Amino acid sequence: MFDKVLIANRGEIAVRIQRACHELCIQTVAVYSEADRDAKHVQLAGQAICIGPAAPGRSYLNQAAILLAAEITGAQAIHPGYGFLSENAEFAERVEASGLSFIGPRPAAMRTMGDKVSAKRAMRQAGVPCVPGPDDALPEDSAQILQIGRDIGYPVIVKASGGGGGRGMRVVRKEEDLLDSIAITREEARRAFGNPELYIEKFLERPRHVEIQVLCDSHGHALWLGTRDCSMQRRHQKVVEEAPAPGISPELVNQVGQRCVEACKLIGYQGVGTFEFLYEEGAFFFIEMNTRLQVEHPVTEMVFGIDIVQEQIRVAAGEVLRLQQSDISIHGHSIECRINAEEPYTCIPCPGKITAWDPPGGYGVRLDSHVSAGCVISRHYDSLIAKLIVHGRDRNEALIRMRLALEQFNVRGIQTNMPLLHDVLTDPAFCRGSPNIHHLEQLLIQKQCA
Ligand code: ADP
Repeated sequence: MFDKVLIANRGEIAVRIQRACHELCIQTVAVYSEADRDAKHVQLAGQAICIGPAAPGRSYLNQAAILLAAEITGAQAIHPGYGFLSENAEFAERVEASGLSFIGPRPAAMRTMGDKVSAKRAMRQAGVPCVPGPDDALPEDSAQILQIGRDIGYPVIVKASGGGGGRGMRVVRKEEDLLDSIAITREEARRAFGNPELYIEKFLERPRHVEIQVLCDSHGHALWLGTRDCSMQRRHQKVVEEAPAPGISPELVNQVGQRCVEACKLIGYQGVGTFEFLYEEGAFFFIEMNTRLQVEHPVTEMVFGIDIVQEQIRVAAGEVLRLQQSDISIHGHSIECRINAEEPYTCIPCPGKITAWDPPGGYGVRLDSHVSAGCVISRHYDSLIAKLIVHGRDRNEALIRMRLALEQFNVRGIQTNMPLLHDVLTDPAFCRGSPNIHHLEQLLIQKQCA
């Protein structure tokens, strides 16, 4: 096991990872920007090094500064958390070239899965169900492109191979619009991702977002840890997540989970990862893999009783997975609400000083957060200030517990999205079982019009 791990991140996830390290008796090194000098992740760490000014490009994305911090402090491994450098294969390579361990998959697997076309191809080979459409990049020839569109059938979605964060996508409903949409998306992709490669696939009108968590060691063992439903999204950003995804047949989930494990073995995947699917009319369609820890990992931890971050660190240190698929069983239901510093219905970020912070507690309630009264929420970073997670014997108990927890959470000084979260938790369609990925946007339109 490692003696010392550097955490190349900030906010709640840097705190979360430190807890896992400390429970494994690993010393921690925090890195921070000038804006985060007083942050909780800095206070909790054994050592802390300032790596630059507030702007992420000059601090949390500054690879040279982070590698230097690791060298100075004698850290043996770097945990990238999520966001920032977590899916950057070049950074993972540089970490390894410095003689350190990157707590994540090998760079080659990150590259394969980071490119959406090669990911889709690898998944098809492993028998994972994919959205209808070719697993090749679009050709240049217009006639060939139009033929591909016709073969798939409209509507289709044009997507950038190198896209991410919900950008680089365009829905096309009729053939006349296809070539223009491709030209615009290609230009966007070239500018935003430095990669003009595009592909097209069937656009599913009313899917749910359902994902499968995997955990793999470096000895060829792989596990899948059930489903999460993350259909409650705004602008492709998840707002409420739950495990397991309600109302899906366990046999089907089992089949798809097994395929995911096969895919991991095929690409030599190591560490934690998430297969994201669209789920429509009883079928799963792979869209992409996230080769890192996810924001919503706690709901899986709650229902399986497994500390995913500890397991991730163990496998990165070369340990053999201690669990087999037959050891894993699901208990109850878990829901996570992302609490953001933002105006609840327009979702405009609301940075500022928190004057009161009085969180809920009690049986089955967990709060992953880095803030407290007196904290100043910086405009430089993500507006996520806390993840409120509940566990219940069943979904209904989890819903009741979450509503109460939200009602008892008192935050002053800044606005948060808690009123919107409470609306979701009392929304009849959500309470019946997770509705499709457009539902939250529709709810927001109703609220804005009301
Ligand atoms: P990103 O990496 O940018 O998050 P994804 O491929 O995961 O991109 O897609 C993001 C979101 O876009 C999905 O969660 C879904 O809402 C929508 N989407 C992507 N592909 C399709 C599709 N084929 N049909 C319908 N919606 C899609």
